[in-house]
Amino acid sequence: MQVITAKLKLNPTAEQKEALREVSLAYRDALNYASQVAFDLNKTSSGNKLQKAVYNELRARFGLGAQMACNVPRQVSATYKSLWTKVKQNVTAIKAGHTKKLYKGLDKAPKYVSRTVTLNYQRDYSFKTEQRVSINTLNGRVVVPYEGYNKHLQLIANCAKIGAAKIVYQRSSKTYYLMVSLEIEAPTIEPTTITRISGVDVGQRYLAVEVDLQNKAKFYSGKAARHKADRYHKARKTLQRKGTRSAKRRLIALSGRERRFIADTNHQIAKQIAKPNSLIGLEDLTGIRDRTKSKSGKRASKKQRKANQNKAKWSFAELHGYIDYKANLVGSLATKVRAHYTSQSCVRCGHTSKANRPNKGLLFRCECCGFELHADLLGSRNIALRTLLVRQDWMSTGILSLSPNVSGNEAKAEILSRFSELRWSLDTSPHCICEPSGEQISGG
Ligand SMILES: [Zn+2]
Repeated sequence: MQVITAKLKLNPTAEQKEALREVSLAYRDALNYASQVAFDLNKTSSGNKLQKAVYNELRARFGLGAQMACNVPRQVSATYKSLWTKVKQNVTAIKAGHTKKLYKGLDKAPKYVSRTVTLNYQRDYSFKTEQRVSINTLNGRVVVPYEGYNKHLQLIANCAKIGAAKIVYQRSSKTYYLMVSLEIEAPTIEPTTITRISGVDVGQRYLAVEVDLQNKAKFYSGKAARHKADRYHKARKTLQRKGTRSAKRRLIALSGRERRFIADTNHQIAKQIAKPNSLIGLEDLTGIRDRTKSKSGKRASKKQRKANQNKAKWSFAELHGYIDYKANLVGSLATKVRAHYTSQSCVRCGHTSKANRPNKGLLFRCECCGFELHADLLGSRNIALRTLLVRQDWMSTGILSLSPNVSGNEAKAEILSRFSELRWSLDTSPHCICEPSGEQISGG
């Protein structure tokens, strides 16, 4: 079972658009009202408690229907819950001496800025014939035509289990979207239908480097994309410092654009990486220090810290998620492999050492056998090889472990020793040790 979000563009008439505007503004105001009430109730995260306190007011003052008047306190208490978690994590981090910064997320009532409405399927919205959707507004229902990706439209028309939806307003294009969550059955894939194994390395220089066991490699340059994301980020920081009303408004638009740009770029990369009938290896990045950051903290110079501030944070978890999702659509699977030493292990002789990366540079050079390769390509080759192990285990046991959950040092040592047996057999052909082709992802 997999939950995906279908983004449907709504094409309302002028009248319907006004109705959508009214309901989404009322809903947003209701969220902010409930947020303040929760704050005054000792920052409660109890949905029931909040519902009792705000329900009548939500119906009378904001004109919300019964369902929406229940959704509002639920959404607000979910926000408080996640903020409380952060507060607690912060307390622990301070105690452990990891930080001195106090988390301020709950110092005042969280504010909802974008217009949005959460809708329950069959109650607040339902699908009609001829690609139209019926949506509950403050003054009854509107039936609005929509458009979207063919795959999503098919899913809606056919078997998918339809869940809650959200109306989202995109300011820049003055467009309303309906984000519908769909549950789809993941296709059953047998190890014998997998004809291709690949590994994907993500990182700072290249957003992704992909290589398969046939030694076809592709570099997804991050230079242009990162540059653009960094510019958004920098502009956002400047506006944040300004703090005026108009700056705040522009800030909201800008952070939306920054987020969408990163998501779009990730989408495009994922689409290319998710090739049919493949087992795609991704690094399990949990528990691994963020390798994608350049120097930070105390070791960084003042200048370096300043530069870091202007760097957008690229979401590799999102990229992994997209690859996983798109892989499923084309009869492929993504799997997580352990990321330890992928940048230090020689794929020719198995020798693993930090010294294999002189000055942590672009070039991997094995101090044992002298094998040389582009460092990022080496990383993805190691991942592809480990993915081959996953496939072998899958063939022999009939069970595919999508994210091998191995804890304990013994088990880890055993896995790493297995990894060190892996060899890239195609390295006898020297023309494969190639310079990246510099494939550009422009996006946006
Ligand atoms: Zn070597």
